[in-house]
Amino acid sequence: MKEKNPDIIPEVLRQCNCCPRNCRVDRSSDKLGYCKTKVKVSIGSICAHRGEEPVISGRQGICNIFFTHCNMQCIYCQNYNISRNTSSITQSQVAIRDVVDQVERILDRGCKSVGFVSPSHYYPQTLQIIDELHHRGRRPVLVYNTNGYDLKEAIENLEGVIDVYLPDFKYIDEELGRRLSDAPHYPEIAGAAIGEMFRQKGADIKLDKDNLITSGLIIRHLVLPGYIDNSKGVLRYIAENYSSDIHISLMSQYYPTPRVVLHSELCRRLKPSEYDEVLAEFDRLGFYRGWVQQMESADYYRPDFARDHPFEE
Ligand code: SF4
Repeated sequence: MKEKNPDIIPEVLRQCNCCPRNCRVDRSSDKLGYCKTKVKVSIGSICAHRGEEPVISGRQGICNIFFTHCNMQCIYCQNYNISRNTSSITQSQVAIRDVVDQVERILDRGCKSVGFVSPSHYYPQTLQIIDELHHRGRRPVLVYNTNGYDLKEAIENLEGVIDVYLPDFKYIDEELGRRLSDAPHYPEIAGAAIGEMFRQKGADIKLDKDNLITSGLIIRHLVLPGYIDNSKGVLRYIAENYSSDIHISLMSQYYPTPRVVLHSELCRRLKPSEYDEVLAEFDRLGFYRGWVQQMESADYYRPDFARDHPFEE
């Protein structure tokens, strides 16, 4: 078999327009764009994660690849110790072959799927990882777990490759997206990107005999304290522009990280009355498929990427 080089530099990184930031920097040079990442991927963790929706995690968990850095900078980010673009990437840059070696070890322990977490700034490298997995004869279910701040064209490039889209839809309030995540035009950009995911996958999901997802779209929304109208607006947008048949994962797990302890709204957890208001809108709009987190979820969703396994003590 002809030896191939999985680390060839994708052309799109030479004048990077992988994401809506459109920085146009050459990521193989010393110039850095908004996400401050280069050609080699920077990894926070590769681990079996059991905390996702039941159809994604199953009993064995999903092999998640947590990329560091992000093309959004949410001030409340719960994975903040890997997502800040101020952190150094020199320590953690990994070649595609080495990423796939680690993934294979976890697949050998029984995981059936591989998740790419925060992949928007690394979508060409994500395709390289997938290509290398296929080259080695591995065919896991591939899950694209994104913040929604993706170019529609990037999602078009993933058609026929990604099995499951797992995007956040964070904001319908444009100004809020700018203020909390430094993400101009978030509703328009995420609306188009998730619209493309919906075009590819529709509202139905496919499950295997073990009730694990093999194809489809699940839209996540984290309800933030004090911004209930935004959450209700996101749900309305999904119902009106896509379908109320879509699977929604509504999340109450927000907890304040050290960076927002002085923020007027984000310094506290969600109140049950706030969550109930969002749930009432969820019902009113006719959503009936998906998962609704319990209020106490904030007590156990506390990843620490300084540990070997960020989700297990
Ligand atoms: S991936 Fe990074 S460098 Fe490329 S356009 Fe987005 S933020 Fe800029």
